[in-house]
Amino acid sequence: MSAFVIPAPAIAAVPVAGGGSFPVRRIFCVGRNYAAHAREMGHDPDREAPFFFCKPSDSILTGGRDMPYPTMCNDLHHEMELVVALGSGGCDIAEADALAKVWGYAAGLDMTRRDLQNEAKKAGRPWDMAKGFDCSAPIGELVPAAALADPTKGKIELKVNGVVRQTSDLSTLIWSIAETISYLSRLVRLEAGDLIFSGTPEGVAAVKRGDLMEGFVEHVGTVTARVV
Ligand code: MN
Repeated sequence: MSAFVIPAPAIAAVPVAGGGSFPVRRIFCVGRNYAAHAREMGHDPDREAPFFFCKPSDSILTGGRDMPYPTMCNDLHHEMELVVALGSGGCDIAEADALAKVWGYAAGLDMTRRDLQNEAKKAGRPWDMAKGFDCSAPIGELVPAAALADPTKGKIELKVNGVVRQTSDLSTLIWSIAETISYLSRLVRLEAGDLIFSGTPEGVAAVKRGDLMEGFVEHVGTVTARVV
């Protein structure tokens, strides 16, 4: 290959608990994957196949850094999620083989310009600018899958300024992590380095400048970001 004509962009990466970092290739996000959240957004959770949207890999925000309040937005919402990091990939991955593709897990936030998303929904337009803006994916340290007892159950919770806003259990996911990986691998070839934000439970709400978001996923870890 001939030389790059501009300097190559940096590779986005998530710190790993205990050392090292995980290079991020793509970020996939699952919509409406907890029944109570689907209902709070006005949908029937029993009638939908999983659906996906993406964020740019460099939208991650690591190290507990402050999250700048996004431009063009007056209704920034938190969505607390379990994040899955793939160590390998493939097409048409069977559910039984899916968890073997997982390198690790992290706690993350799928931050959303809800006002722009609502406008996009009404107009039948894409969600990219509602979901994929700069610093829209705060994420905590990755924990290797091998170190986890059971990633399919455990408390998931988000506090804002010390008050619980979202609380649920991973066992209430509509599409399990294995089912999600399997389904997504029928749409695209998954690759090592891909992250999957697995959906948020009920209780999504607005945050404003100065608010401290502290998320927790049992057996996995925490994610922290202050909106500034
Ligand atoms: Mn989400």
